[in-house]
Amino acid sequence: MSREAYIERWFVREDEVLRAVRAGIAARGMPEISVTPQLGRLLHLLVKLVGARRALEIGALGGYSGIWIARALPEDGELVSLEIHPVYAAVAREHVDRAGVGHKVRYEIGPALETLPRLEQRGERFDFVFIDADKENYPHYLEWAVRLARPGAVITADNVFWQDRIFDERIEDGATRGIRAFHERLVSHPRLEATLLPLDDGFAVARVKAEATENIR
Ligand code: SAM
Repeated sequence: MSREAYIERWFVREDEVLRAVRAGIAARGMPEISVTPQLGRLLHLLVKLVGARRALEIGALGGYSGIWIARALPEDGELVSLEIHPVYAAVAREHVDRAGVGHKVRYEIGPALETLPRLEQRGERFDFVFIDADKENYPHYLEWAVRLARPGAVITADNVFWQDRIFDERIEDGATRGIRAFHERLVSHPRLEATLLPLDDGFAVARVKAEATENIR
């Protein structure tokens, strides 16, 4: 049995709703790029560990990771999920409603870099952020996440190894460069302390400090 199979068998327990959501995404011909159950479980635990009341997700797709996050929030908590494609956001809405957590989730449709300043203007702040959209903009999403974070918030991101393309110096496309710049900022940002986990395609975890201090390199 593989490590992943062992973890999923004993620790993850993806239920029928989550399995149906995954199947629904595939049946609609949407990209099958939701987080794995293993990563969903980690997101869920992190939201609880930080005691988050308000979470921000950048990249909703069909709502799979959103369900894991929303289930970990208290009844009066809120997940604000940003999605560029209205059709995907509609599917995600259907799925979070079916999972019984729709009352905790708000979708904001449009390019995330246009939505994020609006959240700031409205004074919205978050205890937990999950970055999982276009890789070119990961460094910008990180800056926005810090701006919108409460002290002690946790910021996470998926696909931070980008199928190992970041390690190949010959590869210079926008997504790969975006993720490299994201890493640079993670290790140099005075308000962050961070690490990368070699889980799935790579998962970043950072904590937002109350005050800027020298970052450990
Ligand atoms: N987090 C989802 C999950 O695990 O269930 C998967 C998200 S999928 C990897 C990335 C999503 O980001 C897609 O639905 C895509 O449409 C959305 N996206 C891409 N560029 C975006 C942008 N500029 N603003 C907002 N959403 C964007």
